[in-house]
Amino acid sequence: MSALANNLLAVARGMTAARLSVGTAGNVSVRDNTDAADGFWVTPSGMVPERCEAADMTHVSADGSAHGRRAPSSEWRLHRDIYAARPDVGAILHAHAPFATALACHRLDVPAFHYMVARFGGDSVRCGSYATFGTQALSDATVKALENRCAALMANHGMIVLAPDLATLLDRAIELEMLCEHYWRARCLGEPPCLDDAQMREALVQFRWYGRPRPLDADPDAPQ
Ligand SMILES: [Zn+2]
Repeated sequence: MSALANNLLAVARGMTAARLSVGTAGNVSVRDNTDAADGFWVTPSGMVPERCEAADMTHVSADGSAHGRRAPSSEWRLHRDIYAARPDVGAILHAHAPFATALACHRLDVPAFHYMVARFGGDSVRCGSYATFGTQALSDATVKALENRCAALMANHGMIVLAPDLATLLDRAIELEMLCEHYWRARCLGEPPCLDDAQMREALVQFRWYGRPRPLDADPDAPQ
């Protein structure tokens, strides 16, 4: 069994432990860079991560053919299409996290109410249009909402987060859920004021170096 399958199961269990998901909802995948067919490993359909073994993880090739003892997540098209469209993405998490899903059920974008919105690649986290779960239409809508972003909400459904690897995926998903909770709470007092374009551009520049070492005298405006 691939080490990727073991690591994938650990992140799927972490998703539940972080209360981003309960029961069989949600799915996680990791790109298989060792696979010439540009495949990926994805959690199985309808299984609780705590009751899965690594051998239950499913391998899916770019042409959609699945291999393993379980059927792949019903959202496998979504994972396949994101990997095809986004070479920068190495791991994907989809969950029905409570605050993100509450906003998604109102079909709200998360606007630039807080600089942490820039962490997800732009001046908003978009909410994609509604389509039935597991369909190509939902995949198309979600890929569109993710353009130039590493997170999106899915109307009347949940959230999706992209990361370069499994190691950073879960933390990023937890950050998105916290951001959604902040927005939900801020809206309880009325629609909060948003940062303007210049302020968000500055935040985006700062995030180029976020969590990464850089010389103390580095020009903050220099390209990364
Ligand atoms: Zn879902």
